[in-house]
Amino acid sequence: LFITFEGGEGVGKTTNIEYFKALMEERKLEFIATREPGGTPLAEEIRSLLLAPRDESVCSNAELLLMFAARAQHLASVIEPSLSQGVNVLCDRFTDATYAYQGYGRELGTEAISILENLVHGERQPDLTVVLDAPVEVGMARARDRGALDRFEQEDLAFFNRVREGYLKRAAENPGRYEIIDASLSLGDVKAQIYDVFQRRVVG
Ligand code: C5P
Ligand code: MG
Repeated sequence: LFITFEGGEGVGKTTNIEYFKALMEERKLEFIATREPGGTPLAEEIRSLLLAPRDESVCSNAELLLMFAARAQHLASVIEPSLSQGVNVLCDRFTDATYAYQGYGRELGTEAISILENLVHGERQPDLTVVLDAPVEVGMARARDRGALDRFEQEDLAFFNRVREGYLKRAAENPGRYEIIDASLSLGDVKAQIYDVFQRRVVG
C-alpha cells in the first residue's frame, strides 16, 4: 500500500505518523517511511531550498515546479522501487499537499497542478490518504506551545484557511481514497481514530 498523511500546520502529523508506524511494526508489516518535499538526497536539497528564508520572493510557479522536481526523483528512486517489491510506503505529504498549499493556499488553481501530476505520476496514486483536520487556530495554538510559529509568521491566516479548505475539498471530490481525522480532539481521541483507520484500511 501507498499511504500518505496530510494536514495543515500543527495538526499533529508527525506524532500520528509515528503512531501509525508503531501499529505497522506491531503487525510485522514491512514498510518504509518517507516525506515530501524530500525523501532522497536531491529531493532533500530541493526541500532545503524551498524552506530557506531568502530575500527574493519565490514565484508560485517556481515553487510548484520545485515541488514536482523533488517528487519525480522521490517516486523514481524511493516510492516506486519500494512498492514494486511489495513494501508499503508511508509518506508524510504528497501531491495533495501541492493542491492544498500551492493550488488553494497560493491560489494557483488546480489546472497546472493536474498537468504536472499527470506528467510525474499519472498512473500512481496513494491507496489511502489520511488527512488530519483541525481549525487553523487550533494548529496555531499547538505550534505556539512548542515554539514553532515560524511558518505561521510567513503567511496570513487566510492562507492556512484556504489550505485547510483545499484538503477538505479534495477529500470530498474523491471520497474513496481519503480518511479525515478530527485532529482538534485530544491526542488520545485522535489516536483512536488513527487506530480505527489502520484496522479498516490496512488490516482489512
Ligand atoms: O510537512 P512539514 O510540516 O514538515 O512541511 C514543511 C513545510 O513545508 C510546512 O510548513 C508547509 O507549510 C510547507 N509546504 C508547502 N507546500 C507543500 C508542502 C509543504 O508550503 N506542498
Ligand atoms: Mg511535522
